[in-house]
Amino acid sequence: MQLKTILNRCHKFKSFVYDQARFVGEAIEVTVLPRANAKAMCSHCAEPAPVYDHLAERRFEFIPIWGYRMFFLYRMRRVDCRDCGVKVERVPWARGKRELTDTYQQFLARWAEKLSWLEVARSFRTSWEKVFQSVEFVVQWGLEHRDLSEVTALGVDEIAWRHGHNYLTLVYQIDADNTRLLWIGKDRTMKTLLRFFHFFGEQRSLKLQYVCSDMWKPYLKVIKKKAANALNILDRFHIVAKLNKAIDEVRAGEHRQLQKDGYEPVLKNSRWCLLKRKENLTEKQEAKLKDLLQYNLKSVRAYLLKEDFDGFWGYVSAAWAGKFLDRWCTRVMRSKIEPMKKVAKTMRAHKPLILNWFKAKKALSKALSSGVVEGLNNKAKVTTRNSYGFRTYRGAEIALYHALGNLPKPPMAHRFC
Ligand SMILES: [Zn+2]
Repeated sequence: MQLKTILNRCHKFKSFVYDQARFVGEAIEVTVLPRANAKAMCSHCAEPAPVYDHLAERRFEFIPIWGYRMFFLYRMRRVDCRDCGVKVERVPWARGKRELTDTYQQFLARWAEKLSWLEVARSFRTSWEKVFQSVEFVVQWGLEHRDLSEVTALGVDEIAWRHGHNYLTLVYQIDADNTRLLWIGKDRTMKTLLRFFHFFGEQRSLKLQYVCSDMWKPYLKVIKKKAANALNILDRFHIVAKLNKAIDEVRAGEHRQLQKDGYEPVLKNSRWCLLKRKENLTEKQEAKLKDLLQYNLKSVRAYLLKEDFDGFWGYVSAAWAGKFLDRWCTRVMRSKIEPMKKVAKTMRAHKPLILNWFKAKKALSKALSSGVVEGLNNKAKVTTRNSYGFRTYRGAEIALYHALGNLPKPPMAHRFC
């Protein structure tokens, strides 16, 4: 069986044919010719047009076979289009000035879902940049072809990026049947989120029923203004994160103070005991926590306050939950633990938005109880952290859409991987 036969089986063209295949060093080159009587097409308007002249032969890289790199060789023609003038012809296997065929780009992008971009480049003996271009191509296609018509619930989130001094705002769809990353923007200002709503459009924004966010003021303002019909919910995940941040601050301060005063460093290695959920503690951490709870420490009292707050989420009625919240805040205000008091103050100020959680609980039960935003947030962090070469914003953006966008993929006649 000839290579031509295989190619015609899995990668056939209507107006072009495969000709000779040969080894050139460690690569296989296959000449492609226009089919006799098939018309050339203008790359600008996709209409048939008479041939004007021929350009020099170009190489297009295709999927490697058994360790050999594979190239198509083709002399592009220029056409004299009635509407567009003299233009390069359109070929079905690649677009623009790209060296990689569409199919090869889809192949690389598919592998980039499972491996890091660097690992993909090494596995297929190509460069990191080519893998990036391939993922970018697939993401771009997906963004142009995705359907945004049925979005009713959003989650607005942020992640620190590049050593924690920069932020990215991420907007997710969190409807029960579709959770995905919709949009990414630099920074976490009002302008950032306004840009999202500008992109999303007024009509779609007015159809939104729920927007989940944290207590970040710029976000709250924009959501109120742009998603006027939506219930703004403060997400449980973000509230717990705020409490954890306060505990961490208390613990770090107290640990330093104890050391300074010459006490036994009981808080050493206690960070995760106090931050993790009880059911996620290792045996060692559990023992450490049990030990810690015997001391009358600010960190311990802060931890117990956080634990108590967990009861809040169990309420069915918003009214009772509201009473619980008031009592809890009063206790915290009396605790004299400054970082916790700060959280309690913020919670008091946002009480109605926090209580919206109970109004949305039924409709959004899946998203709210399973912590969809938290899950997406973790995945986003892993994506930006583990990926070599995402120092540029564009790189991070493409990687995030690729990993979390749930984007439609360009059609392929044959699945190569
Ligand atoms: Zn044309």
